[in-house]
Amino acid sequence: MSKLRAAARSGRGLQQGAGDVRKSPRRRRETVSSHKGVLPPVSAQQSAYHLFSHPAEIEAFRKNLLAWYDKCKRDLPWRKLAASESDTNRRAYAVWVSEIMLQQTQVATVIDYYNRWMQKWPTLQALARASLEDVNELWAGLGYYSRGKRLQEAAQKVVSELAGQMPGTAEELQTLLPGVGRYTAGAIASISYGQATGVVDGNVIRVLCRVRCIGADSSSPAVADRLWDLAHALVDPARPGDFNQAMMELGATVCTPRVPLCLECPVKQHCRARCRVEKELEFASKRLLGKAASSCSQAPDIEECAAAAAGSCSLCPPATEPWDSRLGVANFPRRAAKKPPRAERTATCVLERRGHRGEPEYLIVQRPNSGLLAGLWEFPSLPWGPGLTEKQQREALLGHVQAWAGEAVAGGRLQHIGEVGHVFSHIHQTYVVYSLLLGGDPEVAAGGRAEELQGPAFRWVTQAEFQQSAVSTAMKKVWKACERGSCEGRGPGKGCKRKWGADPLRASQLKVEAEGSLPPRQLSLDAFLKAPAGK
Ligand code: SF4
Ligand code: ZN
Repeated sequence: MSKLRAAARSGRGLQQGAGDVRKSPRRRRETVSSHKGVLPPVSAQQSAYHLFSHPAEIEAFRKNLLAWYDKCKRDLPWRKLAASESDTNRRAYAVWVSEIMLQQTQVATVIDYYNRWMQKWPTLQALARASLEDVNELWAGLGYYSRGKRLQEAAQKVVSELAGQMPGTAEELQTLLPGVGRYTAGAIASISYGQATGVVDGNVIRVLCRVRCIGADSSSPAVADRLWDLAHALVDPARPGDFNQAMMELGATVCTPRVPLCLECPVKQHCRARCRVEKELEFASKRLLGKAASSCSQAPDIEECAAAAAGSCSLCPPATEPWDSRLGVANFPRRAAKKPPRAERTATCVLERRGHRGEPEYLIVQRPNSGLLAGLWEFPSLPWGPGLTEKQQREALLGHVQAWAGEAVAGGRLQHIGEVGHVFSHIHQTYVVYSLLLGGDPEVAAGGRAEELQGPAFRWVTQAEFQQSAVSTAMKKVWKACERGSCEGRGPGKGCKRKWGADPLRASQLKVEAEGSLPPRQLSLDAFLKAPAGK
């Protein structure tokens, strides 16, 4: 057994792969439809080459896939709950939470969050009673924060409008619950209720596109419709939940994006992409051995899509991007190129005061209740104004934090720490990080003006409270940048001889792009900020 395969079976390693996240194939809202025991219709624009035309082949596909799944499936907490929970509502809730968390997020990351969530809110009713602040706190670090908010809103709706009963079919789940799309509805209904409906996520797209050589843009509505048709036709009515999970498991652990393990694949005999690669290899080896001397310049006899020859197939790769032998099965799937994330810059300030009992406290401010990172807490931040120089932006930031400081702050006390990059789904954000230590008696000065301040909610937190707060991963990176800055710059520790701020060029070069890039030796942020300015 290869190491990769062993990792997959033990639930490690491959969980980190890009193939392990749920990605919905399309945003257009379509209603999920159940398997009706019929094969997808063949239109003039799609040949049987891309479909499953024989019931016997569908049966064999199901049998092979499920036998593999029974033997190799990963031991995941939501699977245990779905298998052991006899109450339908609780089972549906347990699956629902897992499916929402798994959207765009790796299995390995989700497990801990899922366990803590189900421990804290084991039922819909418990979740409906929770505060959004509690939800955000638990969700902190998982990303795509609106998911947690919408999950809680939907739970409140089930309790208040549906008498605590989860909608009983995929169609109703999608129609009645906010945040539940076609994929999630199908997953909940098939796994929790045994409804014979297929599902299509990123992993299923990859498997289907390869087994049926679908090379047209898989994110286009027309191709997505065909993929849903295929999923509904293939799903096993006797074990729909297991079948759907098996398809996703196959995509996550065997039919992976870059290095699929075709030799170990339970459905390789049904895979047209694999068949094509094998024929090409066979042809190449015959050429090497001189067995195809008379036809060595001809292409191998590979089964092709009938409609492609006429140039009328809507599922074959476009003529401008034909099959590339170097890619093998990874020719599929194909998607239109994504727009690159747009670059933004934000100035952010870690503002410290000495709080009660002399313990340092830091100011965090709540973001608006809608939009990116809705309702989360962050250090006071200011989007970089168009065309502003670093000096102008610094002055703007100083003005922004002045009200919270509660005292006149000279510009020179704002210390430049460095830059922190973080990629959100569509934004490449660069935080330009500053710190500011309040002097005098800041506890009185800043706290005393709290009631006068208009604007977002804010609070002063200790380091421990900051770590427990509903703050984003990006803000935790900012915190770590400050910790690193304490060592790189003016920190009082034995290893930090250079004065902080004495080398602004070096400070401006300090970029912390990832949490893993921290040096082995760090001083605490407290120690850094306590150091007397200018010493
Ligand atoms: Fe994927 Fe290879 Fe299996 Fe085909 S044979 S489904 S390409 S792993
Ligand atoms: Zn075709």
